Amino acid sequence: MEILRTICLLILAVVHADRATYDKYQVRRVVPESQEQLEVLRDLEKNSNGLSFWVGPSRVQKAVDIMVPPHMLPQFDEIMASLNLRSEVYIKNVQHLIDTERPKVRPRADFGWTDYYSLDAIYAWLDSLVETYPEVLIPITVGRTYEGRQIRGVKLSFKEGNRGVILEGGIHAREWISPATVTYILNKLLTSQDPVMQDLVQSFDYYVFPSVNPDGYVYTHTTDRMWRKTRSQGGNRCFGADANRNFDFHWLEIGASSSPCSDTYAGSAPFSEIETRVLSEYLTSIADQFDAYLTFHSYSQLLLFPYGHNNDNVSNYDELLALGQAAVSALANNNGTQYAVGNIYSTIYPTSGVSMDWVRGVFNTPYTYSWELRDKGNHGFLLPADQIIDTAEETLVSLIVILRHAKEKLGRN
Ligand SMILES: [Zn+2]
Repeated sequence: MEILRTICLLILAVVHADRATYDKYQVRRVVPESQEQLEVLRDLEKNSNGLSFWVGPSRVQKAVDIMVPPHMLPQFDEIMASLNLRSEVYIKNVQHLIDTERPKVRPRADFGWTDYYSLDAIYAWLDSLVETYPEVLIPITVGRTYEGRQIRGVKLSFKEGNRGVILEGGIHAREWISPATVTYILNKLLTSQDPVMQDLVQSFDYYVFPSVNPDGYVYTHTTDRMWRKTRSQGGNRCFGADANRNFDFHWLEIGASSSPCSDTYAGSAPFSEIETRVLSEYLTSIADQFDAYLTFHSYSQLLLFPYGHNNDNVSNYDELLALGQAAVSALANNNGTQYAVGNIYSTIYPTSGVSMDWVRGVFNTPYTYSWELRDKGNHGFLLPADQIIDTAEETLVSLIVILRHAKEKLGRN
């Protein structure tokens, strides 16, 4: 018996050792106040062995969130002091947030929105939906990932001839609130008794993809909660590319890295990642059928629209801005959560090769938005599961504003 106990403990120890831990890792918030300070932060991001930029430097007066390992804290403080930069402790112990983001008592149901769920659980739930609603739901498999997993979604269609709306979740693996929100919305589309919702469900076809980076998502569950990228290996020391820098639109021009170890590594070429390649092929195959492409990220509470590679206005900039403002004002009315709206370039940071911009640039899809969901940094990517429902509900409120407008506008044309 004693031997068995020892073996069990050993196994537990090994399992534990295989998992990345972030004990006493801090997230520091720094606000650059001059161009020089901004440049140094940019250099630090490029050459930071060990620092992880949760929110990268963009411009003067814009907050930067940096995760610092405990052994680097003294050095980090020295650098900040030499720059005359104040850094605020935003998260004191990242591991503590990892340990507490899920409920202490796990829900008994196989799926829901009071906890975060594995890829298998999400897929099993999709299967159960297809079984329950066979007349309106069709399963979609976009393709397979680098590690051979299916990239799955569903098409929800109540009638022929509807224009399509695409919901893309989970392209960044660690942003768990994204698949949770996307599945919540899908569930509401299927079950809501609200007449406004029911009208919208009848008026569009919905293509819903909760997790377009399954390998990364699984990895965040099994091995490293803070993983962002895909899990490909191209003979580099580091794994994966940032799938949301890998699309073939102004690829690697700005706000993306050519270094395989960077969190924003754009990949070895446009669509070098099988996940983005098969998704782009699928989207191309239905490109004449959809008018909205909506993607879900975290964190920062922003509603973004194209473009990221420059500050030029898209042709319907005024419409997207006004509609975005109406959407976030409805969102705020729901329970007070404040969002900012604008194009990627000026609202978050310049970036290129992102899925939404590729869709807009290649297909000229009129309604393309990207949510940076809760929160504003107190938990960052580690939003407690007890905020899933409120987050998803307010997001749905903003989505309804956008879809009602799209319906009216498209119906009139
Ligand atoms: Zn993201």
